[in-house]
Formats: sequence, structure tokens, C-alpha cells
Amino acid sequence: MRVLTGIVTVALCLGLPAHPAWADDVYTMALRTLAPDVYLIQRPDPLREPVEPNALFIVNATDVVVFEGGGAPIVAERSIALIRSVTDKPVSHVINSHWHGDHNLGNQAYRAEFPDVRIVAHPETLAAMTGTPMAYVERYVPMLTDLIEEWGAEQAKGTLSPRRAELLPSIVLMRDELARTTIVPPDLLVSDRLVLERGDREIHILHLGRGNTPGDLVLWLPGERILASGDLVVHPVPYGFGSFPLDWIATLDRLAGFDFDLLVPGHGAVQHDAAYIRRLQALLTEVRRQVGESVSKGYDLETTRAKLDLSSFIDEFAGDDADARQKFDNWWTQPISRSAWLEARGEPIKQGAADETG
Ligand SMILES: [Zn+2]
Repeated sequence: MRVLTGIVTVALCLGLPAHPAWADDVYTMALRTLAPDVYLIQRPDPLREPVEPNALFIVNATDVVVFEGGGAPIVAERSIALIRSVTDKPVSHVINSHWHGDHNLGNQAYRAEFPDVRIVAHPETLAAMTGTPMAYVERYVPMLTDLIEEWGAEQAKGTLSPRRAELLPSIVLMRDELARTTIVPPDLLVSDRLVLERGDREIHILHLGRGNTPGDLVLWLPGERILASGDLVVHPVPYGFGSFPLDWIATLDRLAGFDFDLLVPGHGAVQHDAAYIRRLQALLTEVRRQVGESVSKGYDLETTRAKLDLSSFIDEFAGDDADARQKFDNWWTQPISRSAWLEARGEPIKQGAADETG
């Protein structure tokens, strides 16, 4: 999930009330034990912006393996402090599930603390991180600075909405973090599978097919029966930026086929069964069906979007919360309808191309 999407949402959410529970700064992470030696690092409230993914770490006999690099250097620094609260063993591998910055912009902090750490990702993730899709990181710093100045001026006049006033500190922090961010690309590539053997434990790093991006990796711990999906599964509102609807439907089948006890989604609540995977699959299937029909009638993207009716799914995923419903539209309906429309027309789906506006 990319940060600009958050800004777009922020710009639209003037009328919404302030959130009462956001006392901590936006990069405050909490630690939870999932199984012996397996820990979850999670930012409460998955809908808060900028979004921050779930991360896992596994403490082995002589090393620590981390899944997800975090969305900013400060997130990784705090995650390292949480790891240090449990063990003094070094981090040997940091796996980036995909190229969206919230999953890898903390890499630099791991490299600084553990110079020998391997950054693990799919070749498509390497291509995006070293190519134009990731160029947004530099673009955002002046954009966010302009936004901060604009909102600061409104605040001085007393005209800034409570919602924006609440978000402003997060945006300042995000800008400051992006300004000190260096992209650290992967140096260990997995196009299919990599198994790290650590005594009795196996750590499987797998590409199950395209979905949320062209290079999604998942983590599977067969001994603990814990599966971490990256943004192939995001709860409660999925992301659909530059995604591959048809392949994603098939990839979710493979994901649902694992005999897991716990599924850690890319963002949001840990799942205990495949029910949410199947709900996502039904949603994708319906998007693809309706958009396919529109394409067969020759409709342009604007008309296709106007005809797309996901109302029953919006109720199911976002409930009656106005903020969640707006995010369902911004993070899901707008971008995924574009991908489905391109796919149905046989056109390529490019990473980082026009995703910002859906
Ligand atoms: Zn994400």
C-alpha cells in the first residue's frame, strides 16, 4: 500500500469526525507472541494513515528471521528494539513481501544494525524498487511539505478541520521519515521458493503466483502452522493497486490450501481460518465478472466504474463506518476496477502507473 493513497484519502475526508483513540504517534508498534519464538509486530488500527503492515519475527538457535521491513526507518528501529527485548541474536534475513514502500522502507535500519543481513524479495520486487515505481519516495517529500504548509496556514487561521488537525502530526512524521529514507533493495531473490532450515524448524518463503503485485511472497511455518500473506490478504479493507485480478483469484486458492492455524494478513487482524480469504476471492470474482461484462460491451473505464455495483460487499467489508467505506472506495474499488478493466481488454497492468488516482 502506497502512502499517496493515504494523502488522497486525507484530502477527501474533510467531513469525517476526528478519531478519539489516536493518542500514540502513527509509527507506534506493539509486540505479541503468536507461538514459541514467533512474534507479531503490529500497529493497532489498520485503517489509520499512513498504513503500516504487520511484521513477524522468528527467533532461531543462532539468528532471527524477519518478515516485512516496515514502512519507515523509525518503524524498523522500533521493531529492532522490540526484537532486542526478546533476544540479542542477530537478524540474518528480512523478507519484503512486495515492493510497496510500507513493506520495505525500513530496510535501511536493519542493514545499519545488522550489516550482514540479507534482504529477501521476488525479482519483480527488485525491479520495482530499483525502477520508476519507487521513485515516488523522493516525489512525496516536497508534496507532503506543501501539504503541511497549506494545512499549517489553515490551522493558524483556525479553519483546519478536526480530522486534518488530527492527521497533521502523522503527515509531518511521514515526511520527515521519507526525507531520511534510502531505498535498500533486496540482495537475495526468490522467484519460486526458498526454505531456511533452522534445526527442527523450517521457514518457507514462497511465491504462489501474482496477485496484489507481480511479486508477492508469503511466509509459511509448517511446524507452527502460521502463514503470513503480505498484502494478498488485507483486513478489513483490501488494497487493489496495480493488481492482477484473475491471477489473484487463483493465488488465493493456493493460500487457502495451507493447513494453517493462524493467518497473518499484510495489514489488520490475524485470521484463524480461510473464511476471509474466500470472501476476498468472492469480491475479486464479482469485480472481474462485472468489469468483464462492461468491457465486452465496449464501455470505457469511467462508464465501467459507474456501472460497477459492489454495495453488498461494501456493507460486508466496511460495515457502516463512513471512514472504512470511503477507504473501501479509494483503496479497493477505484484501483481494482482499473486493473480489471485493463486485464479484460488484454492490456498490461504496470506497477506505479496512474495508481495514485486509481
Ligand atoms: Zn501494505
